[in-house]
Amino acid sequence: MPAAPRFDNSYVRLPDAFHDRIRPTPVARPEPIMLNRALAEELGLDPDWLAGDEGMAMLSGNALPSGSDPIAMGYAGHQFGQWVPRLGDGRAILLGEVVDNCGERRDIQLKGAGPTPYSRRGDGRSSIGPVVREYLASEFMHALGIPTTRALAAISTGEDVVRQKIEPGGILCRVARSHVRVGTFEFFARSGRGEEVRQLADYVIDRHYPDCREAEHPYRALLSAVIERQARLVGDWLLVGFIHGVMNTDNCSIIGETIDYGPFGFIDRFHPGTVYSAIDRGGRYAYNQQPAIAHWNLARLAECLLDLLDDDRQQAMEQANRILGEFPQHFEAHFHRGLAAKIGLSPAEAHAKLALDLMDAMAAGEADMTLVFRNLGALPASGPEENQPVRSHFKDPRLFDSWAQHWRAHLAAEGRDDDERRAAMDRVNPAFILRNHLAQHAVDAAIERLDFQPMHELHAVLSRPYEDQPQHADLAQPPRPDQQVLTTFC
Ligand code: AMP
Ligand code: MG
Ligand code: MG
Repeated sequence: MPAAPRFDNSYVRLPDAFHDRIRPTPVARPEPIMLNRALAEELGLDPDWLAGDEGMAMLSGNALPSGSDPIAMGYAGHQFGQWVPRLGDGRAILLGEVVDNCGERRDIQLKGAGPTPYSRRGDGRSSIGPVVREYLASEFMHALGIPTTRALAAISTGEDVVRQKIEPGGILCRVARSHVRVGTFEFFARSGRGEEVRQLADYVIDRHYPDCREAEHPYRALLSAVIERQARLVGDWLLVGFIHGVMNTDNCSIIGETIDYGPFGFIDRFHPGTVYSAIDRGGRYAYNQQPAIAHWNLARLAECLLDLLDDDRQQAMEQANRILGEFPQHFEAHFHRGLAAKIGLSPAEAHAKLALDLMDAMAAGEADMTLVFRNLGALPASGPEENQPVRSHFKDPRLFDSWAQHWRAHLAAEGRDDDERRAAMDRVNPAFILRNHLAQHAVDAAIERLDFQPMHELHAVLSRPYEDQPQHADLAQPPRPDQQVLTTFC
C-alpha cells in the first residue's frame, strides 16, 4: 500500500517572523513531466505514492497530505550589490521537511506554486522553461558530485503564464538540505532584530553544523564553517566551467549548496570573463568574478553575525575579518587540488599553476574547456606527435604543443602508470556538460510543443557525465556557430 510522506517541520516551529503560512494555489490540469524515483527513495518517500493521484496532487499543489504545514520563508538580500530589504519566497512554497535515509532533514519545496505574501508584483508562477532548466541543471550538478539542491519532480500545470510571450506553466519540486540563505540573516540583522539573528544562527547550527556547538565560540565556528563550504563550492564551479549568473546574497545558501538556477550557463569555449546572463550587463557575476563575489557575500553574512562573535564591537570586527580571511586559503586549496587532478598530476602548487597555464592557452586559442580536459586524459605520457585530439581544439594548435611539453615533463617526473592516470582524469573531467544550446533545445521543445523528449534524453546522458557514451557523441560536441546560445535568462 503506497504511503504518503511524513512531514516534520522544524522551520515552522521558529517564531512567526520567520515565515508566513500559505497554501499553494491549485492548478488546472497537472501532468507529470519527470519524477525522480531514485531521489524519492533516498528521501524515504514512496515513489509509487508520488506517481499516483495523491502524489501528483501534492506535487502540483492541488492537495496537501496531512502533516504538511506549508510556508513561504522570509528573506532579504543584496541583488547586484544593491540592498533589498524584503524578498522572500515569492513563488516558492515550502511544504515541509522529511527525514531522509541518512537521518538528515530535507526541505520539500514547490517552485511556481502560486502567490505568497512576498510575491510583490509577480504572479507566483513559473514557465515550464525554467522548470526544465533547473531540473536538468540541478540533477547534472549532483551527477558531477557538486553540492546542489535537487529536483524531485517537474510538473506541467495546464495553465498559461505571461512572460515575454505566453508560455505553458510548470512547477518544480525542489529538495534542499536547507533553504536558509545569507539573505535570511540579512532580513533580520539589517532591521535590528538581534534576537531573531541569534535564533536563526542556533537553528542553523543545530540542523546543519552540530559540531559548531562543541566549539569554544559556536558562532565564530559557524561563520568559519559556512565560509569553508562556500569556498569549496565556488572552486567546484570553476573546475567545470559553471557560471551561476545571479550570485545575489539571497541565492547564497548557508550550507554551500548550489541554489537557484536562473540565467546560469556552462562555458563552451573557455574565456575567464564569460557572462551569459541577460541581466548581468556589467559582468558582476562573470566566471572569474565568482570567488570574489562569494567572499563579498560572506562579508555580508559576517556583518549579520557581529553581535554574536563578541560582546565587544572592536573584538567582533577583528574576529569577523580574521575568519573572512580564511576564504582565499580554502578556495585556493580546493581549486588548486582540483586543477592538478584535471591534468592528471598530484596536488602540488606547480601542477595547479600548469593547469592555469593550460586555461590561459585555451582562452588565447578559443578552445572548448570540457573537450580539452577530457581529451587530455587520452594523450599518452610520451610522444609530442600524438597531440592531435587536443591540439585540434585550439585556433593556433601550437599553443597546446608548447604547453604539452611542460606537461609531459611533469608526467615523467611523477612516473604514474598511464592507464591509471587516464582513469583518474576521466573521473574528474566530464565528457558531457549541460551545454547552453542543449538546455535551450530542451526548453524550446517544452515551451513550443510540450515535448519533453529532448529533456529526457539529455537528462539520461548527463546522469553519467564522466562516462564516454559513444552513441551520444553529438551531445558532447560544442555548438556549431548557428547553435550558439550566448545569452541565458531567468
Ligand atoms: P530570483 O531571481 O529567482 O532569485 O528571485 C528573486 C526574488 O523574486 C525572490 O524573492 C523570488 O521569490 C521573486 N520572484 C521571482 N519570480 C517571481 C514570480 N514569478 N512571482 C513572484 N515572485 C517572484
Ligand atoms: Mg532566488
Ligand atoms: Mg531564480
